[in-house]
Amino acid sequence: MKLFDVYPLYDVTPVSAKGIVVTDDKGQEYLDFYGGHAVISIGHAHPLYVKRLKDQLDRIGFYSNAVHNPLQVELATKLGQLSNCADYNLFLCNSGAEANENALKMASFQTGKSRVIAFNNSFHGRTSAAVATTDNEKINAPINKQQKVTFLPFNDITAFKNEIEKGDVCAVILESIQGVGGLDEPSTEFFKKVEKLCKENQVVLIADEVQSGFGRSGKFFAFQHHDINPDIITIAKGMGNGFPVGGVLIHESIKASYGQLGTTFGGNHLACVATLAVLEVLEKEGLVENAKELGNYFLEKAKEIPQVKRTKGKGLMLGLEFDFEVAALRKKLIYEQHLFTGGANDKHVLRILPALNITKTDMDLFFEKLKIALL
Ligand code: PLP
Repeated sequence: MKLFDVYPLYDVTPVSAKGIVVTDDKGQEYLDFYGGHAVISIGHAHPLYVKRLKDQLDRIGFYSNAVHNPLQVELATKLGQLSNCADYNLFLCNSGAEANENALKMASFQTGKSRVIAFNNSFHGRTSAAVATTDNEKINAPINKQQKVTFLPFNDITAFKNEIEKGDVCAVILESIQGVGGLDEPSTEFFKKVEKLCKENQVVLIADEVQSGFGRSGKFFAFQHHDINPDIITIAKGMGNGFPVGGVLIHESIKASYGQLGTTFGGNHLACVATLAVLEVLEKEGLVENAKELGNYFLEKAKEIPQVKRTKGKGLMLGLEFDFEVAALRKKLIYEQHLFTGGANDKHVLRILPALNITKTDMDLFFEKLKIALL
């Protein structure tokens, strides 16, 4: 059997990794400023993370959601404390798309409506309703296009008010900092008006924190830069530091009923332990604060690079915008400088998504490599 060929691959085969260094099958080391697409939050093979997972595997790795799993309760409590979102309830699932799928479903159950407002250049995943709210025609099949979704630009409150007041909208879904799109963010003023109009029109506001959450933006959640309270928050990526896990934080004003949501694998023992280990490391090592500080350091250093037209993003969810397309530069960085970076829908943007325990020395090395690649 061959693999279903959907991924254009870089010719690199990682076989081990530690901290922000990835080693390939030839013994070549790479500096990881991509984190496997914003997934590696506490560094590869963090000792506490490895120990917790190994210990748990020796005890019990999985049982279904038909019985008690105290690790889920421990996780919900800890997540509520660290994120300052104790007034939400947690539903655990397995990926970002699944988190958004469940969030949209809850919004539709709650309101009895079905149209969704999403934003231009958004990315919310590749499954049914999640992909329909993703602004990319190419990855939406006819079956996905049955969903009713209206895409609007950020910061146009008149257009937004016009749509939401039509009365058939169940949810507004947005990324506080766009990931795949290329690091665009709405203004605080827009956020606040969106929150108010959602309340006035009984529409569920969903913050997609799949990429920007778990401290990456320099606050636990990126929407917290704007002092708003979404009804539902979705999480995945950095949450498990590579272990597949996702979650939906549902405000306690939205009530659950048996069978409304469900999953076989979601919230299994290993997923809970992986996420608990991430939370413990974030707290013990002050990594949300580190993301903020190191993000600022990075933005200062970026000023020394004349080819950088604009910097984008917050914390360690960053973008460098050039006045040329960056695909060739990314290749040069990987193959000649042995440095992983990310791309975006905006082809002029180089995305920077390192682990949150990165150091200034790592960043200095990044800029040395970037300068050489730009010569
Ligand atoms: N939402 C956002 C903001 C994302 O960046 C992504 C993935 O890149 C997803 C959802 C989908 O997550 P997953 O690939 O885990 O389904």
